[in-house]
Amino acid sequence: MGLFTSTPLPEPVGDSAPPVDEHPSRIATVLSHLRRSADTRITHPRRFRRQQLKALEKMLEEHLEDFVQALAEDLGKSATEAKFSEIDVVRAEIDFAQRHLVEWMDSTSVKVPLALQPAMAKVEPRPLGVMLIIGAWNYPVQLVLAPLVAAIAAGNAAVIKPSELAPATSGALAKFLPVYLDERVYAVVEGGVDTSTELLAARWDHIFYTGGERVAKIVAAAAAKHLTPTTLELGGKSPAVVENDSLASAKRLAYAKFMNAGQTCVAPDYVLSVGDSSELIRRLGQAITSFYGKEPLTHPDFGRIVSRKHFERLLSMFEQGEVVFGGEYDEDTLRIAPSIMRNVDLEGSLMTEEIFGPILPVIEVETFEEALEFIARRPSPLAAYLMSESPRLQSIFSDRVRAGSIVHNAPLAQMIVPTLPFGGVGPSGMGAYHGKHGFDRLSQMRSELNKTTVVDTLSAIYPPYSWAKRKIIDRLL
Ligand code: NAD
Repeated sequence: MGLFTSTPLPEPVGDSAPPVDEHPSRIATVLSHLRRSADTRITHPRRFRRQQLKALEKMLEEHLEDFVQALAEDLGKSATEAKFSEIDVVRAEIDFAQRHLVEWMDSTSVKVPLALQPAMAKVEPRPLGVMLIIGAWNYPVQLVLAPLVAAIAAGNAAVIKPSELAPATSGALAKFLPVYLDERVYAVVEGGVDTSTELLAARWDHIFYTGGERVAKIVAAAAAKHLTPTTLELGGKSPAVVENDSLASAKRLAYAKFMNAGQTCVAPDYVLSVGDSSELIRRLGQAITSFYGKEPLTHPDFGRIVSRKHFERLLSMFEQGEVVFGGEYDEDTLRIAPSIMRNVDLEGSLMTEEIFGPILPVIEVETFEEALEFIARRPSPLAAYLMSESPRLQSIFSDRVRAGSIVHNAPLAQMIVPTLPFGGVGPSGMGAYHGKHGFDRLSQMRSELNKTTVVDTLSAIYPPYSWAKRKIIDRLL
């Protein structure tokens, strides 16, 4: 079983007796405490949500260095990258939620049909209850804390389970979060598959999972046992169609692909070059060298592969085509240089599985139409990129391609637009978050109707149904 960091457990609010269980597991005890506290609605008031968001921000501010160090340990992330791609993303989410909380929490008055008037109706976002947030290892801070921001803003309690593959970051979250957030309603549970399995067996009000498709099916099956709604933030092979092979295009592609050593869910997985790819490959190489120098394996701004298993999985991909740039690796530090491949085997793992590493296959297609067909024959990805200044091609691309997001000329930038929903479609995910989309996703949109009995206008539709009443009903409804 996983470790739970906060001992002793805080007293739950409310005065109901703890459930009778001779040998409750640590996780079961934690959950029952959390649920009893959440049932008293302490997470509901706006003031509480604001306090908790502020406390989360304070934790990130005061322990920035601890998180930067943990990310360097887990993934070799540079301090700059750790800050802007993890901490700053969460801080921006907190800031956005703080600024818009009043408006998000507001109920919306809606029209009532004539037949029911006079009456008032409104839709009000209500907290769902207790969330389980399970994160992946590649952005181990952002992927649990950004959903947590949405959970807090929406007035929910939550347990977060960071990935065991980023143990230093998981440890830092478990150490610091309970110091800042209200322990009665927020908790960190550390551990691997056994812990996830035990957590998933419990009843939750929403499960927010980020990770791969295989485990997502396990999560969805576990959730189905309790009819728990889920958000599944998954991955896939996000294509980049290149019509404009300028150096600016190449730099943007290389930046998005090789950040975090290619271990980014929305990184361009492969490139479809419309026409000859020689110039594009040359410029991609130029871009890579300008970012990481001639020895990227030792460059401080270039990260490492998370584990030996993933390292070996990636090395086997080098055999599935011609390596035209990079290809070097270091077995001791688990680093693989930014690499470009062409003439690749379309049936091998390189082109059938998400690469999730610093290898970029470039595939030539003769026409733009061929690129669209190539994408359409494969599962819908999390993102699809087009590098082209042509409004006509951009319009065709957004019309024809099915993906979680469509981005023209700025791969990855969609991640930091808090007004855009972030999520997949089909096998790349279910549901979306960021900004208000996260708030709405973790809220119940509750309907409320209020009609006085002082004037009983409904009597016109009560049985027995005379000819005259039927006429009235026909006219009203
Ligand atoms: P991972 O191995 O860290 O697993 C994710 C979580 O699932 C972990 O917390 C882990 O403990 C848990 N888990 C693993 N096996 C389990 C099991 N059998 N039962 C229950 N829980 C289990 O991450 P991963 O799956 O390697 O993540 C990589 C994938 O995540 C890629 O496909 C990537 O594209 C995707 N991803 C998506 C997003 C997004 O926002 N859409 C972000 C990052 C990563």
